[in-house]
Amino acid sequence: MGIDKPDIRYVVHYDLPDSLENYVQEIGRAGRDQKASAAILLYQPGDERIHYFFNQLSREQRQSFELYLEHSEEVDVLFDEVQQKWLEIVNKTNEPEQWMNRLKLQEKEKEYRLKQMLRYIKEENCRRAAILHYFGEKLVEKPDSCCDLEGAVLPVQEEVQEMTVTKKAEWQEILLNLFKKNTEL
Ligand SMILES: [Zn+2]
Repeated sequence: MGIDKPDIRYVVHYDLPDSLENYVQEIGRAGRDQKASAAILLYQPGDERIHYFFNQLSREQRQSFELYLEHSEEVDVLFDEVQQKWLEIVNKTNEPEQWMNRLKLQEKEKEYRLKQMLRYIKEENCRRAAILHYFGEKLVEKPDSCCDLEGAVLPVQEEVQEMTVTKKAEWQEILLNLFKKNTEL
């Protein structure tokens, strides 16, 4: 996404990111002007299920594709779009096995990254330090308002309240308009 505004104060996630890599990239959009800003991640247990579901799906996709490679003459399969692409690649490459192994490795990496994301959510000490640690860095200087685990409050709260009120008004308007249209139909 090409959001290039220096004065973004809040980045709110209401979907669980699939990795700390993506999460950090996304929250990095807040506070590019160096002023106080916050990243808010809304999570409830079970939010990870959607990621498990898609990981499982791609694993099954890969497994049935592998089955085809091993017993192509016996297996009657209908490829989906992704598998069709795999087939093109496999037909071109001299080392299909190596290529399949890479695919398997990618699955494992995906699972690992999700696990680390969940670990971050369940972090008990310091989220800032946890992120830095994940990327092989150390927290040298802890800011006063570090993270929620250390009592940080959201910056410029009056502004948030104002924002919420305007948002509500907008939503009410949108809803009203929707209902109007429906009754007209
Ligand atoms: Zn902290």
